[in-house]
Parts: sequence; structure tokens; C-alpha cells
Amino acid sequence: MALHTTNGSTLRSDVLDDAYASSDLARQLPAFYFPKGETDARHAYEAVHDELMLDGNSRQNLATFCTTWLEPEVRDLMAETVDKNMIDKDEYPQTAAIEERCVHMIADLWNSPEAAETIGTSTTGSSEAAMLGGLAMKWRWREKRRAEGKSTDTPNLVCGPVQVCWHKFCRYWDVEIREIPMEGDRLIMTPEEVIKRCDENTIGVVPTLGVTYTGQYEPVADVAAALDKLQADTGLDIPIHVDGASGGFLAPFCDPDLEWDFRLERVVSINASGHKFGLAPLGVGWVVWRDRDHLPNDLVFNVNYLGGNMPTFALNFSRPGGEVISQYYNFLRLGREGYRKIQAACYETAQALAKAIRKTGPFEMLYDGEGGIPALCWSIKEGVDVPYTLFDLADRLRTSGWLVPAYAMPPHREDLVIQRILVRHGFGRDMAMLLIEDMKRAIDYLTKHSPSQSLGPDDATVHNHTGR
Ligand SMILES: *Cc1c(COP(=O)(O)O)cnc(C)c1O
Repeated sequence: MALHTTNGSTLRSDVLDDAYASSDLARQLPAFYFPKGETDARHAYEAVHDELMLDGNSRQNLATFCTTWLEPEVRDLMAETVDKNMIDKDEYPQTAAIEERCVHMIADLWNSPEAAETIGTSTTGSSEAAMLGGLAMKWRWREKRRAEGKSTDTPNLVCGPVQVCWHKFCRYWDVEIREIPMEGDRLIMTPEEVIKRCDENTIGVVPTLGVTYTGQYEPVADVAAALDKLQADTGLDIPIHVDGASGGFLAPFCDPDLEWDFRLERVVSINASGHKFGLAPLGVGWVVWRDRDHLPNDLVFNVNYLGGNMPTFALNFSRPGGEVISQYYNFLRLGREGYRKIQAACYETAQALAKAIRKTGPFEMLYDGEGGIPALCWSIKEGVDVPYTLFDLADRLRTSGWLVPAYAMPPHREDLVIQRILVRHGFGRDMAMLLIEDMKRAIDYLTKHSPSQSLGPDDATVHNHTGR
């Protein structure tokens, strides 16, 4: 005999029912209250799994810089290491050793004079890495100022159009940001603009290798040379931290003669995102210092309560170890040769896309995938009258699943609206050409059915289903 449950179904039917015939899935999922009872694991899984379909397909997200394609071996390693905590260096000594190896390998990749002796750490991403690099510069500047008996009240940092993590760094740690605004066709920093903003309170200069807005590399070597001259003229010794979030794992493979790294004496530290062109799964970044002197001891904490006495310099405590392990797998699996081939394919696809998009509409390429990261960006040609905006085009492309962001540039070029594509591992030439087909169709549609009210920068559609 079957037992009856409160809602009239039976235990027997609860066990045997198809998930979608179950009472569990015959209701909306809770969003604003903590559920009282349990849900069958299979039903809960189906429900959550299905909701995630609404996220769309990450491979078609051409806005992100981050990894969206992984080898099956990486998925295996991630599953095998789901229990490993990066902070428990005493409990998981081999994971800690692998992290150390990665730091030295990256130091070698970035031409550290003594890669085996270098100091650095993995982080959750470039944002945390930037905080650590910035803090080290602030500490060193403050020590020097104190030793000279001078004020330490008004530190500043000089940069080009930076990623938001540097705005965060400056606000969180009370540093004035001197961000060089864009001007006319100049969308990145120049040595002249950097030097104009430097003074005795400058903790450091941060060029970006792969500017977020356009993908271009900022001229690190020229900026370093200008700072050398500034020191010769005035005695001011201002260090460089390179934000190599993307470029840190591109330039060494595809542009090995470009001097942007520790080959330049003035570069004291570098960050990069392992989960971008480092090709690791989401959740890993790196920061490496030229040598121990550039990481003040004061910032390193020793904890003994995990067993052992471990120095740590991080904003987080616990975090997963799988990303670091996968990063090591990638280094081993690909080597310089493998990385070069993958990234070269991305550059070729970006350049092919730039050519095709030029022909697709009244577009002007602002960056075509040469001299920066494998990306491209364009605007609508000046003086051309089209019945749609790039925001409309982005919105229309969403109907076929593509995410090709349109956005306004930062000060002083807010008037300039651009659209950008990032070409990453796993976005092949065939997909790229199918995207072009969809773009042509979208442009056709928008030309025939001119939007009565075009979308602008403030209309960015928020696609989420939190509330009811
Ligand atoms: C992505 C990016 C960051 C932030 O990196 P996360 O790894 O996402 O934290 C910082 N700077 C630049 C130039 C970037 O492209």
C-alpha cells in the first residue's frame, strides 16, 4: 500500500515520477525566502540546470576576455581537485609546490633576471593581483618618504585608460588616480602625457598591455625611457607596474621581441590573468615582483594555524586550488610552442574578422588585431547617416545568441561609441564567418526596419530574472 503525503501524491509516485511530473517541479523556485524543507537531489539539479540555460552560451560571448573553452583533461583535473584549498599549503604541499613552479615559470616567461629566485603569487584574478602590486608600490613609496622626513598624505598613481580594478585600488587604498584621458585619436597613454602627471608623490606608473576599451598595447618601453630621463633630470625614481592582464600571456609567445617586461629595469612588478590568455579556468591571476626588495616584508603575513609557518600575501584566505593546478597543466601541455599556435590562430581570426566587418557596414576599424591583443573594435564612420546605432546592432545580434558589446569610450571621448570583439581560444574561423553572416542579416534588418527609437548608452538591457 502506498503512503500518502500531504500534497496528495504518494511516496511511491515521488520516487518513480519523471522529474517534470514531480510536485517539486510543479512550482516556481524560491527566490526570496529560505526553503523550509528538502528537495529531491535530481529534481533540484534539473531545476537549477535548466535555469542556467537562460545564461546563453558562453562561447558566443565575444565580450569576455576569459576562458570559455577547456580541454577535457582540465575538466578532469578541476573535478579531482575540487576539495583542495590553495591556502592550506601545509596540508596540500604538492599543490603549493605547483603554485611555486608556476610563479617561477611565469617569471621566466617575463624575462625576470633571476627567475628561480623571484617572488610572486597566484591570486583570484588580475584584480587581486593589481591590488597587491599597487600596495607594494604604495608601501615602498611611503617608506622612502618617511625616511626622508616628508609627507605621505597624498600618494598618486599615473595610468592610461585603465580597467576598473585600478579605480578600485585607488579608492580602496586612498591613492589619487591620475588617469590620462583619451584625446582625439589618441586612445592610450603616451610618454609625454605620463611625465606631465608625475611628481614626488607618484607611487608608480601603470601601463596596460591590452587596454580594455580597444585592445591596444600601451608603449611600456617608451614610458620607461621617459621615466629614466625624468630621473636623470630631477632625481625622481618612479617605478612601473605593468597591467598585463591579457598581454602577459600573449606578448611572450607572439611578440617576443617587444620589450615590456622585466627586461626593462624600471618594471618592478607585473600582473596577468591566468584565466584570460593564460587559458586556465576561471579564478586565477598572477603577480610577480622583479625581486624580493620590491615586495615589502610588512605586507607578508605568516600564519601558523594551518600547520607549518606559511608566508602569505593575498586579500583572500581560502580559495580553490584547481585553477592553479590547471594552469600548471597548461604550461606543461602547451609550452611556448603550443601557446604561440593557439594565440596566433586567435590573431588570424581577429584580423580576418576586421577585414570582413570593414566590408559589412559603414564601419571604421579603430583596432584591427595588430599591435595588441587578438581583438578588434570599430565605430560607425563619421558623417555617415545610418538609421541604427551600434547599441541597436548589439541588441539585434543577441537574437542569434551573440554578445558583441557596444559601449561609449571613457573621458574625454564619451562621444565615441564603439563595438568590440574578443577572439579567444575556441572561437574558430568557421564560427567567425557565421557571425559575419548574422551581422549582415542584422544590419539588413535594422536598415529595413529602422528602430523608431534607437538604443543609446543608457539603454543597456539587463537580462536577469532575480525577482518575481
Ligand atoms: C580583465 C582585466 C583586469 C581584471 O582582471 P580579472 O582577472 O578579471 O580580475 C584588469 N586589467 C585589465 C587590463 C584587464 O583586461
